Amino acid sequence: MTEQLAPRRPPVVIAHRGASGYLPEHTLEAKALAHGQGADYLEQDVVASRDGRLFVLHDIELDRTTDVAERHPERCRADGRWYAIDFDARELRALRVTERLARDGTGARYPERFPVHTGNFRMHTLDEELEFIRGLNRATGRDVGIYPELKSPAWHRAQGIDLGAEVLACLERFGYARQGERVWLQCFDPEELRRLRDAGCRLPMVQLIAPLPEEQGQWPVGDPLSDAGLAALADTVQAVGPWLGHVLQDGQDTGFTARAHAAGLEVHPWTLRREELPAGWATFDGLLDALFGRVGVDGVFTDFPDLACAARVRSVAAG
Ligand code: CA
Repeated sequence: MTEQLAPRRPPVVIAHRGASGYLPEHTLEAKALAHGQGADYLEQDVVASRDGRLFVLHDIELDRTTDVAERHPERCRADGRWYAIDFDARELRALRVTERLARDGTGARYPERFPVHTGNFRMHTLDEELEFIRGLNRATGRDVGIYPELKSPAWHRAQGIDLGAEVLACLERFGYARQGERVWLQCFDPEELRRLRDAGCRLPMVQLIAPLPEEQGQWPVGDPLSDAGLAALADTVQAVGPWLGHVLQDGQDTGFTARAHAAGLEVHPWTLRREELPAGWATFDGLLDALFGRVGVDGVFTDFPDLACAARVRSVAAG
């Protein structure tokens, strides 16, 4: 007798840094918009300040998303970057957040998006964001989840901060340890996830997978794209977050999703951006429809939660 496969659940929509296609990433405004657009999870990237507070910020540096260079020209490190961990919470809150700047720090990373250096956007702590989401959930009657990422935990440890322990303590304060299905903990560093699992963390975890092995750091468990690597990961995590190119190449399903499913892992690829269609795709909707349809991913990280939610409605209607 063959084993009956459970019917797949509709894919989840993870608002990547909020509805960051429309508002500056990781602002509470971007989170509110994503919540209103129907996202299932709102993502938090987490870094620490000098005084040990947890802030929601994608880079460990400040200069591509704030006015720090203008405000504190003397406080860049030798590499020409300004680091969040060199500033106290009070100083971080005083910065103005901008739509993401290009790598050379001048124009916009995404010229079609919210204008750079406009609006009165501010940084906030992880506590503040979790309180904000709790309030939105209460006011709307929805139960939107959270999807925190531990940013560079080994680097933070070298700076004297145990980021994983601090984030888990914060989630515990907000009751997420008791709401397993509404939280995913994500990280690129497999050793950090293993360490937290061994220390008794019971939250669902996502192992992120970078485009190139050298971008990932050391893999204690072999190539994460191989069947053996996926099976080893399944001892620690419940899902993988692969780079989109690991899932689709030149418009074709690579087979990675089916292999991860065979290892018992969900697949949440990143990052779906309307302005960055991979080779082989004519439209963003066509890309989303393929991922939710024939590829059968379990969720997507996207800067455009509204478009992914619309694609999910189409995929459910198509059966
Ligand atoms: Ca992230």
